[in-house]
Amino acid sequence: MLKHTRTAILSILAASSLLLDVTLAATADSKLPDATRAGFAEKLYRLDCGHSLANDESVWTPGENVGRSIEFSSTCWLIQRGNKWLLWDTGVPESALNDPKGWSTLPELIVYHLDKTLTDQLAAIGLKTSDITYVALSHTHGDHIGNVLLLPNSTVLMQRAEYTWISSPDGTNDNVNQLKALARKLLGTPKHLQLLDGDTDVFGDGSVTLVSTPGHTPGHQSLLVHLMNSGFIILSGDVVHLEENFEKNAVPSLNTDEAASIASMDRIRRMMATYNAKLFINHDKAQTDTLKLLPAFYD
Ligand SMILES: [Zn+2]
Repeated sequence: MLKHTRTAILSILAASSLLLDVTLAATADSKLPDATRAGFAEKLYRLDCGHSLANDESVWTPGENVGRSIEFSSTCWLIQRGNKWLLWDTGVPESALNDPKGWSTLPELIVYHLDKTLTDQLAAIGLKTSDITYVALSHTHGDHIGNVLLLPNSTVLMQRAEYTWISSPDGTNDNVNQLKALARKLLGTPKHLQLLDGDTDVFGDGSVTLVSTPGHTPGHQSLLVHLMNSGFIILSGDVVHLEENFEKNAVPSLNTDEAASIASMDRIRRMMATYNAKLFINHDKAQTDTLKLLPAFYD
């Protein structure tokens, strides 16, 4: 209801004055692009970066679905901007390929499987890992950074808050401690590491913007992409895992900050209204299965 009210208000504003709409975008989300002047990325490809089975959905939907199993997708995205390529997340490690036992970040909760490698999917459109200019990371959970070490020449883009967090001493939550240790191992020591402080316009033209959405982890980020025919698309990272959670403002129990998680979902809702943007939710298998898959692409 709230979402619809906001959308209606924004539509009225947009209809009454284009200038007013631009001002709104500029003041509410100051580092984000001007919707009417943003440049365009040429192509957006979805890569299949694994799928997983968790034995207790209630970890993601607190108070509901206790003991029910749930299947998630793991998604990576590849963006072409001029002669540069940006890979958004790197998925489940290639070493898990066709392993019937699978791979896990938290063995008692979730097991991941991989049917296709990142390398083979890039090769299918004529690319090598060395062609990837930027590897942008939504956050440092293992299912998102599993293949960073395969791209040693790319510049890794991540939030400084995330890097500081995985380097910080252990806290009281054992699951979180395990995830941080795995993150340090999978990330290694990138040769080209660019630590970001908040929203970042990657190509300086508003075509691809990293958007700070903390809460799932301290330095979590999402990605806003502008395409000529598809318009604005927001890639969620793990700002939300399921469409239903987005509707209910439900926060998974593994998230490091509940209030920040809710604020970040709110921010995404405002952006969807401002940019008339679609939200592609990384782990929502039902939604993911409806989206184009490489070699098909959005333009
Ligand atoms: Zn994830």
